[in-house]
Amino acid sequence: MPALIPCPGRHNDAWRCAEQTRAEDNTPHDLTPVFGQPVHCTRCADRARTKLLDLPELLAAVWLEAVHGSRGPKAGTIGRSPVTPRWPGEPSRILTDHIVGGLLTLEDDIRSLRHLNDRRTGVTEGAAATAAVRFIGTHLDWALTEHPAASEAHDRLSANPAAQIQAWHRAAVRFTARDALTERYAAPCPRCDLLGLYRADGDNYIECRNITCGMLLTRAEYDAHAAQLVAGQAA
Ligand SMILES: [Zn+2]
Ligand SMILES: [Zn+2]
Repeated sequence: MPALIPCPGRHNDAWRCAEQTRAEDNTPHDLTPVFGQPVHCTRCADRARTKLLDLPELLAAVWLEAVHGSRGPKAGTIGRSPVTPRWPGEPSRILTDHIVGGLLTLEDDIRSLRHLNDRRTGVTEGAAATAAVRFIGTHLDWALTEHPAASEAHDRLSANPAAQIQAWHRAAVRFTARDALTERYAAPCPRCDLLGLYRADGDNYIECRNITCGMLLTRAEYDAHAAQLVAGQAA
């Protein structure tokens, strides 16, 4: 039986950090990682797919911002420092280039690694992006297990396809101000105990916003956890 691989998703960051500390100075810990099936866990794989399929619609929304040019410098989410746009649609153009460029690079990368024909060129940007999403969707199981970066931890600069999809999605959601459409949850996170549980619009999972935790919960798991807290308080 092949060795179990801890999922590279952010929810295992706390475990990775504890493992590193243990390697450095023998500090024991009692954290258990969520293992991959076989590389990413089913939740991270499921989210990568949903977020990938959301991208064409999000790109259209980002593109509409370019037409209306309503987003101020605050909306430029690629760099952290606020930059004054040189023309009204510039932030949206930069973000579109970033996401579409990333999708096409990932498609080319998969084609070359899997010895497939080259991508069709000479089509419009929208058609190329939609085709890239469809192509990556078809090869997503492969990309999340066999891509050379598939087991890289999901940090911001990782080439892991799942981390990239997540980052493009997050940038587009922030840009189009859809992150206002998040549901916050009253109970503290069952793992880190902080009040940071939320669910973004269209996400199947409730996520802990604590960057050192990032736990993913289903609605049923959250309900059971909240019921247990209430029962504990009543006792
Ligand atoms: Zn995972
Ligand atoms: Zn947490």
